[in-house]
Amino acid sequence: METTAPTRLVELFPAEISEQLGLPAFQGKQIFRWIHAKKVSDFDAMTDLPKALRQRLHEECVAHGVELVEMQTCARTGTKKALLRLGDGESVECVLIRDRDRITLCVSSQVGCALQCDFCATGLAGFTRNLSPGEIAAQALVLLKDEDLGERTPNIVYMGMGEPMRNYDNVVRSIRLLMSPEGLGIGARKITVSTAGEIKRIEDMAREDWQVRLSVSLHAANNPLRSRLVPLNRKYPLERLHETLRSYQAISGRQITFEWTLLREVNDQLQHARELMDYCRGLRVSVNLIPWNPVEDLPYETSTREACVAFAETLNKRGIKTTLRQERGQDIDAACGQLRRTKGSLA
Ligand code: SF4
Repeated sequence: METTAPTRLVELFPAEISEQLGLPAFQGKQIFRWIHAKKVSDFDAMTDLPKALRQRLHEECVAHGVELVEMQTCARTGTKKALLRLGDGESVECVLIRDRDRITLCVSSQVGCALQCDFCATGLAGFTRNLSPGEIAAQALVLLKDEDLGERTPNIVYMGMGEPMRNYDNVVRSIRLLMSPEGLGIGARKITVSTAGEIKRIEDMAREDWQVRLSVSLHAANNPLRSRLVPLNRKYPLERLHETLRSYQAISGRQITFEWTLLREVNDQLQHARELMDYCRGLRVSVNLIPWNPVEDLPYETSTREACVAFAETLNKRGIKTTLRQERGQDIDAACGQLRRTKGSLA
């Protein structure tokens, strides 16, 4: 006998919920609010819905269909890392990072990643599939479920597993779900999409009618080294990326961040900082330096604290705003893709 898959409500905007279930507009909004604003996935807890409707939701729908398998918390930093099981048994990771009063959620956009950056745990496992918009939004809902945010709005960065620009349409829709005023209501400026340099999609992003931020995972500013660390550079070398970023800024007027994972004696020397300074010319950029989190089986080491600080100072002295991220939670397998790897396939 053929069975139909339950409707996954987290994928839908309020009007779509009403339309698909044949409900009045206000009930579509109520259901959306329960799932996205109150982060409730149990229909029985949606107490302002009629009992008959709750029963119907049980029979025909799931709220998000994402299950928390494991949540690790770093005792020192408060960073939380979640391993989630998706409806088809695949798994993804997402992270909540605390920095003084700020909360940042790092979400995944794909199961695995095809880009195979040389220092990345996710890349080691290869690519499995894209995440749906709801599967992306659900990561934020699970991470925030027991958080008392008070007046704070979290930041969301698309820097978890996967290359977001290779799942562009779903990423865009997930951003609109997260921005919805009926839901989490995250402001566009608090959302950052990261890319290893998918230039066609950077061009698309320049034309979106929003202020979502763009971040580029650069890691090296000379072609031989970048092609080794980020193989996508062989397709779109640094010169082509620079041209695209210039045009992105000309169209959108928005600032860009360069992410730079510091690898000991590979890209953390002063000559690398100088190459980066040259590359920044003609662009309005800030730089985010990230000490590498060790990954078993990969031939890299974490930079020394002195090298990290010297690198940051060199850039800051030249007027390039540079932040050095603290190492967060090595005790919780903080490098993306690590937890999924160490727990094996959940399928
Ligand atoms: S660093 Fe990002 S783009 Fe590169 S392999 Fe890892 S997940 Fe993919």
